[in-house]
Amino acid sequence: MLPRRYHKLVRVLEQRQPDLTVLLESVHKPHNLAAILRTCDAVGVLEAFAVHHNPEEILPFFSGTALGSEKWVFLHALPDIDTAIGSLQQRGFRVYAAHLSERAIAYDSVDFTQPSAILLGAEKWGVSDRALELVDAQIAIPMVGMVQSLNVSVAAATILFEARRQRQAAGLYDRVRLEPETYRRLLFEWSYP
Ligand code: SAM
Repeated sequence: MLPRRYHKLVRVLEQRQPDLTVLLESVHKPHNLAAILRTCDAVGVLEAFAVHHNPEEILPFFSGTALGSEKWVFLHALPDIDTAIGSLQQRGFRVYAAHLSERAIAYDSVDFTQPSAILLGAEKWGVSDRALELVDAQIAIPMVGMVQSLNVSVAAATILFEARRQRQAAGLYDRVRLEPETYRRLLFEWSYP
């Protein structure tokens, strides 16, 4: 491998944020999934999660056969929303549902330097009622136009880049955040795909 490529992999891994993630609830349009994973890669998300009623539909994203930036962000399928939110909370994440509602707080008032998972809802139906019962808080991006919501990938990018801004200011990109074992394993796997 060329030294330049190797240094790029090192630089990327050194800035991965294992405690920042997204949970996608029935987001199913391939271009939205691809756009979200691309943004995840851009801000240093290590792994993302998805609950989908028909995982086969988005199989390329799980099997890593989709071309593009999604191959640098692991997408894990979880069987249902209870398991997904429960397991993230058990791992110490606060789970924030991106959802426009009376109960939602402004997305930029959240402290994203803490372990954070952003739940994004289906293109048509949004976040499910069950998920809203389970999350730690609801967050919204203010809207003053005629349409009621943003495209899901745009909402994801807006929130993830706010998280990036906060983490940058807190110095979280200035030191390696991955466990040494994970870092070594990924460097090997990425170097010899
Ligand atoms: N009709 C759906 C609803 O009532 O929620 C709209 C779904 S929207 C196209 C898809 C997803 O993008 C939402 O579930 C939410 O996660 C996210 N989203 C879109 N606009 C948002 C906003 N202004 N604030 C927070 N999340 C937003």
